[in-house]
Amino acid sequence: MDNCIFCKIAKGIINSKKYYEDDDFFIIADISPKAKKHYLMIPKVHYKLIADQTQNDNLVLAKMIAKIPVLQHELGLDGGYRIIINQGENGGQEVPHLHVHVLGGEKLN
Ligand code: 5GP
Ligand code: ZN
Repeated sequence: MDNCIFCKIAKGIINSKKYYEDDDFFIIADISPKAKKHYLMIPKVHYKLIADQTQNDNLVLAKMIAKIPVLQHELGLDGGYRIIINQGENGGQEVPHLHVHVLGGEKLN
């Protein structure tokens, strides 16, 4: 998607430090952190909703979730974390490219 900020970051058109990257997804820090550590896990394929997922998108989402405990220490998430996926207008989704928020680094409310 030409106008999508996360697609632009995925393609390197906009520069953002990637804490992890593979063929399917990457991890950046949220520009407006809501916790001491606040990451966004972003699939490279553009789609908005879980409801829009292909079978492969679904597999990639599962891989993303499974990667969190693997990177937990490296990302400063020892002690636990919170995973959030905002979906649609009522869910407060601002960027229409699916992403997983991972928050931690402190005790969350
Ligand atoms: P949503 O509300 O769509 O679930 O979350 C979008 C998130 O993306 C917000 O937490 C916002 O701070 C973050 N964000 C928006 N634009 C950028 C950007 O250009 N770079 C980074 N790193 N985060 C962004
Ligand atoms: Zn996109």
